[in-house]
Order: sequence, then C-alpha cells, then structure tokens
Amino acid sequence: MLLFVDLDGVVYRGREPVPGVAAVLADRAARGDIVVYVTNNSMHYRADYVARLEAMGAPVAADRIVSSARATALHLVNREPTLRRVLVVGAPGLRRELADVGIEVIDAGERADLLARRTAEARVDGSTVDEFEVAGRPDAVVVGLDQDLTYGKLAIASVAIRAGARFIATNRDPVLPTERSFRPGAGSIVISVETASGVTPISIGKPAPEILEEAARLVGARASEGIVIGDGLDTDVAAARAVGARSVLMLTGVTSRAQLDALPASGRPDEVAADAAGLAAALDRLAAPAREQ
Ligand SMILES: [Mg+2]
Repeated sequence: MLLFVDLDGVVYRGREPVPGVAAVLADRAARGDIVVYVTNNSMHYRADYVARLEAMGAPVAADRIVSSARATALHLVNREPTLRRVLVVGAPGLRRELADVGIEVIDAGERADLLARRTAEARVDGSTVDEFEVAGRPDAVVVGLDQDLTYGKLAIASVAIRAGARFIATNRDPVLPTERSFRPGAGSIVISVETASGVTPISIGKPAPEILEEAARLVGARASEGIVIGDGLDTDVAAARAVGARSVLMLTGVTSRAQLDALPASGRPDEVAADAAGLAAALDRLAAPAREQ
C-alpha cells in the first residue's frame, strides 16, 4: 500500500513522538508498504526531517518527505515549466526546495529593501521607480509561512502580482499550532497578499489535491491509490477526498471525537484511530482484500 503520512499530530506532537506510531509505520514498511510523509509545513528543507524521524524509529529517506514547499517546487517544474523566475515570501527551506529544482529564486526581503531605497531616492531626485523591475520581473510569486515577514515583503509581492506574476501559495492553513498557542500560519500571510493584490492564488498544500499528486508522482503511483493518515478533517481527510484516496483520521492531534461525531456521513474518513494500535488495526483492515467494497 502507498501511505501518505501527515507529521504533526500523527507521528509527533510538537517535540514529542506520538507513542507507537513510528513503530507501526516501520512494520508496514517492512511488509512492503511505501511510506511518504506529506506535511503542509513550508518552512523546512526535506533533509531537515530525516534525523528527527530516524530517532523516533520511523522509516524515512529525504526523498520520501513532501512538504508543501517541496510540493510547490515539484508542481512548478512538472506543471508550470514556463515559470522560471520566482519571487519568494517564505522561510529558507522553501527557497532551498525551489532552487533544488532549478528555479531562479528572488528573495522578497532583498527586493523589499531595494524598493524602499529606490522610493526614498525618487522622493529626493524626482525620478520614477519601475516597481516590477525592482521586484526582479518574476514569472511567479510563491508565498509560504515567513516568520520574518515585513510590510515591505507584502508590498513587493503584491507589486509583482499586480504586474502580472502568477500567485502561488504553498498552503492556506490559517494557524500554526505550537506548544503554547496558535500562531499565524501561511494562510494568514497568503490572505494579506490576496487582499493587497486582488488576486486569488492557487494553493498546493492540503486540502488541495496537488500535494498528494506530486507525492504520488515521486513514487510512480497515482494519488487515488494512496491512504492518507492524518489528524485534520479540513486538510488531510479533505485532501484524500479531493484525489479519491482513502483516509485514516488519527485522534492524536487537532480533531476531537466530538468533532468527528458531528460530521455527516459524507464527510467521514474511511477509518478512525485513537492511537497507534488503532492505526495498525485500521491499516490491516484497509489492506485486507476488501477493495471490491
Ligand atoms: Mg497534522
């Protein structure tokens, strides 16, 4: 089986492993299942996850980690090969994933500083500023979670989009859960750029199908053949439905039993698991020759 495994809320919660889940995945991998980690987090480079997952005993290789940053890079090369120059509002991991596939990355922070200097000079000498030129004439603007966000970055991104650059969001998660609270997620930044530019982006991360399609393509499969294992109804389960894949909802993260019970039948996952033992049992049922259901 092909397993699309979400990370936060499934394999770990913040810094803590979810007990037993890594071992269940290791057992499935030993029996021939393909495990691909699929996370909406856009901040990290894929290799950054390897040591942490290995330490938990999870089966992992850098190539089997598809963040929304990597999925955005793969989507651009596979589906939008004419978009070669990209202005990036996001974390270093996003810039690195884009550069890895041969995209020319333009840093929004540097361009924002340049725009501020040019604007100040123009005020003094009366010259005009070609703002799209200052933005680096990008083919596209990619926006992900940027913890060093500034007004200048929002400005340069919206300048480029208003001048015709395509607008692509890594994901639209409104918040980023942390140990202490909910912090603004990529979606909070994306909606600012959307408001400022008047353009709605395409989004790559869950619940959009693109991230699962790119993850499946990496292993030579179709996304509909996969099983999504995740803790989010609006992200993981919705993405599974978008590509026609099956899903296992884990109650180890953001979704409560009460939220699940409130769902209409049409919104339910194929399986629900409260813990690692429940996940193992759910995968055994899904692996059984019940595909004729
Ligand atoms: Mg999650």
